[in-house]
Amino acid sequence: MVSISKENILEKLAAVKDPELGKDLVSLGMISDIIIKNGNVGFSIEVDPKRGPSLEPLRKEAENVVRKIPGVLSVSAVLTAHRGIQKSENNPTTSKDQQPVASASGKSRELAPDVKNIIAVASGKGGVGKSTTALNVAISLTLQGLKVGILDADIYGPSLPRMIDVNEKPKSKDGKTLEPIEKYGLKCMSIGFLVPEDTPTIWRGPMVMSALEQMLKDVAWGNLDALVVDMPPGTGDAQLTMSQRVPLAGAVIVSTPQDIALLDARKGLNMFKKVNVPVLGIVENMSTFICPKCGEPTDIFGTGGAEQEALRLGVDFLGGIPLHRDIRTTSDDGTPIVLESPDSIHSKSYRDIASAIWENVDKQRKAPPAIKGL
Ligand code: ADP
Repeated sequence: MVSISKENILEKLAAVKDPELGKDLVSLGMISDIIIKNGNVGFSIEVDPKRGPSLEPLRKEAENVVRKIPGVLSVSAVLTAHRGIQKSENNPTTSKDQQPVASASGKSRELAPDVKNIIAVASGKGGVGKSTTALNVAISLTLQGLKVGILDADIYGPSLPRMIDVNEKPKSKDGKTLEPIEKYGLKCMSIGFLVPEDTPTIWRGPMVMSALEQMLKDVAWGNLDALVVDMPPGTGDAQLTMSQRVPLAGAVIVSTPQDIALLDARKGLNMFKKVNVPVLGIVENMSTFICPKCGEPTDIFGTGGAEQEALRLGVDFLGGIPLHRDIRTTSDDGTPIVLESPDSIHSKSYRDIASAIWENVDKQRKAPPAIKGL
């Protein structure tokens, strides 16, 4: 099998000229996020957003030259908004030998300036209930009288459209910003509203890097007390870059008891520590199995593991959510459990967790900013 390298790709792209700027894409530093997987290539071309649609021929040309490389099966180039001075820190073509330097307090507030607190919900791996938790917590925050939005940035498996039963495309009033969809008292936006479900993962790779930034900037969120961001699962480059670029108030880590045992949650913690994002705490999902017939709780995977682990790691344990069929069915039916059965023990767990998160956000806001190197 022919192996394709980043160098091969950059070499080809160095022959593509930006007609307006008169230089090639590589020397202008416009190429980033190159991903090569089994002959499929993806990369981003960073452009000034104002130039937007006029650059479609350039994007196509870039794809065409790369497609000519022997062994390349498919190419997906995406135009992404220019990242200005952050670019060199975050460009994965160079980031391997650079440490992230962003600090939570030092990030630009140009992204969604009227959103008071951006809260990331993350997990060490997929399928632990991160999205279900993010949505039910976001709704619980609205029940406390807060103005809340939810941004599903899980580019690999956006589930918000299903969980709130919305399939319409967001509209734009001014041709520049997208209006979030309003449902259940929340302002909602999902990468799933914008990207067709069958878009290959390779396409998503480069997009994920700037997707969160763009969705903060290009969506008319308006005034919000909190924006809950459902992050892509895992702790790889993409997640790290996302956490680094956005002014997060803090991060919540969702994990299952097994996940805690397998250290995945710890990786999540370390990732946020690396980029100086405060960890608001750990949620243990599917902690206790509650029998749908008799209501009897059973601790299939043992109990208290997450709490002990959180204690050991010096982060807050925000609470546990039982494993119950109703949580899955309501989630799949597009009617979140905190609204569908507000009196259930599950809904109470979500509400308690939301209160604990909000308390910690408040504490973080009052805490003096961390001084680097201390
Ligand atoms: P992730 O975002 O981590 O991939 P999801 O929130 O999509 O996970 O959850 C994965 C599946 O597990 C979904 O079908 C969801 O309805 C179900 N689920 C999540 N939490 C629970 C729970 N506490 N009890 C039962 N099912 C759950």
